[in-house]
Amino acid sequence: MPPPLNLRIELDGTAVGPLDGRLAAARGASSAAGGLVGLTVARRAPKADDVEIAIEFCGLCHSDVHATRGEWGSQNYPLVPGHEIVGRVSRVGSDVKDFQPGDRVGVGCMVDSCRECESCLEGLEQYCERGMTGTYGAKDARNGDAVTQGGYATSVVVDRRYVLRVPESLDPAAAAPLLCAGITTFSPLRHFGVREGHTVGVVGLGGLGHMAVKLAKAMGAEVKVFTTSESKVSAALGLGADAVVLSRDEEAMAAENRSIDVIIDTVAAPHDLNPFFRTLRRDGALFQLGLPSEAMPPVNPGALIRRRISYAGSLIGGIAETQEMLEFCAEHGVVSDIELVGAEQLNDAYDRMVAGDVKYRFVLDASTLQEPSERADA
Ligand code: NAP
Ligand code: ZN
Ligand code: ZN
Repeated sequence: MPPPLNLRIELDGTAVGPLDGRLAAARGASSAAGGLVGLTVARRAPKADDVEIAIEFCGLCHSDVHATRGEWGSQNYPLVPGHEIVGRVSRVGSDVKDFQPGDRVGVGCMVDSCRECESCLEGLEQYCERGMTGTYGAKDARNGDAVTQGGYATSVVVDRRYVLRVPESLDPAAAAPLLCAGITTFSPLRHFGVREGHTVGVVGLGGLGHMAVKLAKAMGAEVKVFTTSESKVSAALGLGADAVVLSRDEEAMAAENRSIDVIIDTVAAPHDLNPFFRTLRRDGALFQLGLPSEAMPPVNPGALIRRRISYAGSLIGGIAETQEMLEFCAEHGVVSDIELVGAEQLNDAYDRMVAGDVKYRFVLDASTLQEPSERADA
């Protein structure tokens, strides 16, 4: 049996990593093509500033598919994905005053950053100039360069500065996707200053897209959904969208000319943006959130220039803004629409996600990771 992930043996034979840490049952990829298999992760013992979390739920983000399947370039395998983590605190380090065992908490896409650069000091840790430390697949400089392993696991240990409080009023499984899909759409909506009177376009009705609909509605905006799936039209209206447009219907797209202030584009595959720019009003903006592995069709500068349109990107959100988003969701009763899956269903769930067959987020029930049969194959 291979040693658990993150357990490093030094030349003198000492083990660096878990010591009195815990072994976590997990699911992850051993290679780009092999799917998700049972693994064991050695979590470090909580250091002075650390919070140890017993994971209850973890959302399945399309980024997990891109990463584990090697679509974003080479990865450190084995790789345990998962950055929409919700659970309860199980232990805390000696300097942790703001969390106690039993608290419901969450962890999103990052577990550290340099804490010194301009972006970190402004609370924009996701744009850390030295690179944020991702929740999985990243070298963890403050922990011996161990490769971080994510939330498809029974526990995780994270510095308190990167741990979020999840309001008890939110259903914990349905709140998990807020930690990535929620904050990734909340942040650009806030950056644009979306409020009552604005019209927001949401392109792609998947995990991110359906959160964008709910959050934009809660901010008071009118929402138009652009989808490639005829089957999602009535569901989109059910989510609160005011209108739904089939984006492959050229006439329907032309009818939306100059009707939208800001577009949140969540499509996970290359697609032509020019028809969407034409739906924007003067001074409108399109935020592209999806990160397809292949090149996008070229942008027509004329479509931008004639209306002073901004074509922007946006990466998740900072820690303070993520906490603000969780409070906003508690206040407005916003959570994700989820389909709960067990460890054995993860590979099938990935295929269904790629096929667009999910309404709207799969969430792993971490209690299913503890089956003895899975521990045996780890
Ligand atoms: P998802 O649940 O799979 O949703 C993506 C949606 O895009 C699909 O439901 C589908 O919507 C549409 N779509 C997919 N393939 C398409 C195609 N070939 N042509 C047209 N439309 C297509 O994915 P997600 O988890 O929301 O993530 C979306 C993207 O955002 C991924 O690339 C992910 O890596 C990225 N992401 C970025 C950030 C960030 O910080 N910027 C954070 C998280 C995720 P319709 O059926 O409605 O057309
Ligand atoms: Zn994500
Ligand atoms: Zn920094």
